[in-house]
Amino acid sequence: HAPAHFRTLLETSRFHGEQVFLAYEDEHITFEEHFRRAATLANRLVEEYGVTKGDRVAIAMRNYPEWVVSFSAALAAGAVAVPLNAWWTEAELAYGVSDSGAKVLIADGERAARLASTGVPMIVTRGEAPEGARSFADVLGEVGADVRLPDVELSPEDPATIFYTSGTTGRPKGALGSHRNLGQSPMTVAYGLIHSLTMAGKDAGAVAGVRRVTLLTVPLFHVTGCFSGMTTSMFTGGGLVLMYKWDPEQALRLIERERVTTMIGVPTNAWQLMSHPDFGKYDLSSLTTLGYGGAPAPPKLLERITSNLPDRAPSNGYGMTETTALAIGNGGADYRARPDSIGRPSAVVDVRVVDPMGTELPPGEVGELCVRGPNVIMGYWNQPEATAQTFVGGWLHTGDLAKIDDEGFVYIVDRAKDMVIRGGENVYCAEVESALFEHPAVDDAAVIGVPHDELGEEVGAVLRLAPGQAVTTEELRSFLADRIAKFKIPVHVWFREGELPRNPGGKILKTHLRREVLGS
Ligand code: ATP
Ligand code: MG
Repeated sequence: HAPAHFRTLLETSRFHGEQVFLAYEDEHITFEEHFRRAATLANRLVEEYGVTKGDRVAIAMRNYPEWVVSFSAALAAGAVAVPLNAWWTEAELAYGVSDSGAKVLIADGERAARLASTGVPMIVTRGEAPEGARSFADVLGEVGADVRLPDVELSPEDPATIFYTSGTTGRPKGALGSHRNLGQSPMTVAYGLIHSLTMAGKDAGAVAGVRRVTLLTVPLFHVTGCFSGMTTSMFTGGGLVLMYKWDPEQALRLIERERVTTMIGVPTNAWQLMSHPDFGKYDLSSLTTLGYGGAPAPPKLLERITSNLPDRAPSNGYGMTETTALAIGNGGADYRARPDSIGRPSAVVDVRVVDPMGTELPPGEVGELCVRGPNVIMGYWNQPEATAQTFVGGWLHTGDLAKIDDEGFVYIVDRAKDMVIRGGENVYCAEVESALFEHPAVDDAAVIGVPHDELGEEVGAVLRLAPGQAVTTEELRSFLADRIAKFKIPVHVWFREGELPRNPGGKILKTHLRREVLGS
């Protein structure tokens, strides 16, 4: 039975008992221990902080085990958990706190210092508690063996979480998710996992019988980390290996040490893992699946996995904050046959592509991708207008341009907001980026619109070359001439020394790049 709400999930997880749930550096926390800590903290939130059903409890910390304990405690107390982006500045954090109307903050020392000015009661772990705040250990006090969850009535339709969107295209929006949204998340992930294993020619039943240990390379404050990683591990009894921050060498070490079976993250994580000079020195034999998503995965990544990590089941998942992580996924033989597709929708998800009037388009035509299903959130917190625009007649309008082929495979063409319109012709950045990636000297690429008086916009590209490689703009343009139409070939090319700016979700920050190269 699917967990109808988080309390069911948490209570069920206790049956995994002495299995390790959370691994962080030298700390290993069992399911039983996690349950007790979460239940104890839930009681403290109710008794000492007056938290009642529907109150918001914000969490602002790195991927520490206390993040998971705090999240579990907030939901068990009937509150709405509000994971704040740990990379946010003081002003951004203050926005998250006031926008969500948080009653209590649970933060690590670094975030606590940035949050002190909000005046909201605060519980602090891993560092100094500012004046007036209490330490996590002090609040938790004694953790008894027979602790029970506080008494709260919850229904699957009650709100459970507010996750902020990545803010790639504008100010982050609070995505209000229900307990049902959360409860179904292990289903879509398990479905995707079993599918990609099957399609990789493995006996998914037997592999599913092996205890999964997931290395999480992305933050818990985004849905991939929380749902594809955390709630799924909680439901299946799998281990979750946490990292303070992404570091490919540390990841290699952890895969070997913790006998990791699955790595979950964004495409760049998989790429950087395989690019590390010490890649060959570690024992990665435990690794069976590699899941990534959240940002476009260049076909070159799949080729690289096939040669560097053969016989693994890679999968590319498409999801949004608004779809409670995974909605559409590609894996195994399907993925190899169509490396440029994000695959087919998960069993519980319906998709379609519509024109600007909202009319469904036939296969092969490009329009806005819409998603419907039990994973689609309730709406945006405090934003009735944005909610009304985005959630129409039960369909979530994703803002992504896509096409669906005859067999139901979905291809992301571009973000509607990223598309370059050159003299009335649509140029999809993602298509130009893929073509650029085919050039061996290109390590990373971002295509942007460059203002042009006559055409409105021209195509520009910011590139990072692979170490020791050199190529001229003219050489690149003639390389592209065999691959894409002339009007799509970048006119302006900038070579950048360092990594392209990405947010923690692995997405290139095009607004930053535009400012950098165009000054606007
Ligand atoms: P904001 O909505 O605040 O501008 P965001 O859309 O980047 O930020 P997220 O919810 O983290 O916030 O990301 C969802 C988006 O990520 C999707 O709309 C899509 O553009 C992109 N995306 C997710 N998975 C994939 C994938 N597998 N391939 C290509 N793009 C993806
Ligand atoms: Mg978005």
